[in-house]
Amino acid sequence: MIITVEQLARLPCCALVFAAKGQHARYLGDTAIRHYQDKTLLALLTDLGIETDEATIQGGIGTLILARDKMTWLPAATSGQMLGSALKAAGATLTTLAKGENPLATQETIATRRKICESCPSFQNNRCMQCGCNTTLKTTLASEHCPLEKW
Ligand code: SF4
Repeated sequence: MIITVEQLARLPCCALVFAAKGQHARYLGDTAIRHYQDKTLLALLTDLGIETDEATIQGGIGTLILARDKMTWLPAATSGQMLGSALKAAGATLTTLAKGENPLATQETIATRRKICESCPSFQNNRCMQCGCNTTLKTTLASEHCPLEKW
């Protein structure tokens, strides 16, 4: 799903930015991401005037991308993505335990991973916006991987 800058400009949360900066894609995109990052995708789509429901979103849309021309912002994880990532992480951890292996990464690995996450543009409020995972937990589990292959 691509949301255009014209649509972003119509969002109430972008009104002040639009008045001050005009229809500049990056400012509007950043404002929309900040405003909706703790909300559901349904809230954003409703505000955009797109009729849908939670079941349709959970079933069909994994990633929200805000884009203009060739510029693409970070995907914002939906609640469906977060659930999927959590289930995947839980499954991998159970497999590790079943093999009799330690499901936790070493302290050195955890520290290295966290340093990388904290300097990553996808790191917001202790969450990875690529997969929706809580990064404290994600960096601790041995079986986890960075979706951008940074670690
Ligand atoms: S897991 Fe990877 S993509 Fe996600 S915040 Fe960490 S470094 Fe960035």
